[in-house]
Amino acid sequence: MSTPLEMRNDLLGKKLVGELEKRNFEAYYCKTSAEAMEKAFALIPEGSSVSWGGSVTIREMGLTDAFHAKNYKVVDRDLAKDADEKFELQRQALMVDCYVTSTNAITEDGVLVNIDGVGNRVAAMSFGPKNVVVIVGMNKVEKTAEDALTRVRTYAAPVNSMRFMGKTPCAVDGVCHNCKSPESICNQMLITRNCRPAKRIKVILVGEELGF
Ligand code: SF4
Repeated sequence: MSTPLEMRNDLLGKKLVGELEKRNFEAYYCKTSAEAMEKAFALIPEGSSVSWGGSVTIREMGLTDAFHAKNYKVVDRDLAKDADEKFELQRQALMVDCYVTSTNAITEDGVLVNIDGVGNRVAAMSFGPKNVVVIVGMNKVEKTAEDALTRVRTYAAPVNSMRFMGKTPCAVDGVCHNCKSPESICNQMLITRNCRPAKRIKVILVGEELGF
């Protein structure tokens, strides 16, 4: 029998699929991250070139390791030996067949909200890769775009800043100070209202807590 949280995720996830389709995204709801992995592999044919940003979600799921293990042409900036090579791999990632990422938040009516430090991830989401697969846990659903931005600035960005060991005020006390720090990870903000070309972005909602 489902828990109340699983019931909420199933109901809201299925509703969100419809909202995303109205905005010309391709969309799926999967109960578990194992199902979401299968869906991702069904959407991305082996032999494709793939890349990703710094997403915790796709690493937690084991998806990045699985891309290496299977027959994909991987552009992995984590394998760069220095900052120059990382930058070059981030540029190459803009030309892959499929870019895989999470989203910082998604609204109940299907808008994707993202904030980026360097901008490579939001660039790939907007334009470049032929396809984008977005995998998002139901813990990232917010009522409105404003609520989503608040979530990112007050929760996801401070946690990410700590993860990257950034020299930012939020990494010191866990609170956003709206900083202008050179290491700020809140420099580019992307609101993806609709998907154009239609179905270029494929959103897989997962009925679990993934990432932050
Ligand atoms: S303090 Fe700076 S880096 Fe941290 S969440 Fe606020 S704007 Fe972003």
